[in-house]
Amino acid sequence: MLDTENDPRYCLNWACERKFTHHNNQKQKNLCRHHPGRYDFGHTGLTIAETHSEYLKPDSDKILWRAHWTCCRKAWDDYGCTRGRHKGPLVKEMAVRKYVWPNEQAMKYFWKVSSDLWSKKLDQEGVFDQERVSAVFNHFQERGDGRVKMNQVVPLTNALKLHHAVCYKDLSFHFKFLDVINGHLSTLTYDGTTIEKDL
Ligand SMILES: [Zn+2]
Ligand SMILES: [Zn+2]
Repeated sequence: MLDTENDPRYCLNWACERKFTHHNNQKQKNLCRHHPGRYDFGHTGLTIAETHSEYLKPDSDKILWRAHWTCCRKAWDDYGCTRGRHKGPLVKEMAVRKYVWPNEQAMKYFWKVSSDLWSKKLDQEGVFDQERVSAVFNHFQERGDGRVKMNQVVPLTNALKLHHAVCYKDLSFHFKFLDVINGHLSTLTYDGTTIEKDL
């Protein structure tokens, strides 16, 4: 018998986030409802302007694949698909977790998997080529002050080919993409109407 048998532990299985004790966990093997898979960030294959309307249609067949849990294809904030035992450290020994599911920021605990095929496509299209990116941005800024009007953001993201960047392993693209799709972009703006070059 463990001497920490009845001490609270914290379950780190995805989508569970419950406290448990070793004692209860041994007695009932179906207490934990979780996702045993990993989170796949998905890829639309569409430009951001196209995605904006397609994403809101639940049955859109134009999206290559939506973000999902690999275990059940469910969405990020759906309850766990599988029952089993809790698994995790003693509460008193664990580090404070900055982000907790279902907060979208907790997606940062997953690596994005980018296939060779997509990496090659990003290179070929020069998605991250600094000269090209600067040239495109300069074309869209009105006054040469490094800012672009909000109504130019969608055409700008299309010209930058940012829809390809969402399959890149750097997660910041994913979050910017979500902000555009969910209409949160104004929270990132300089003064509510313009965005800055280093966004
Ligand atoms: Zn699942
Ligand atoms: Zn659990």
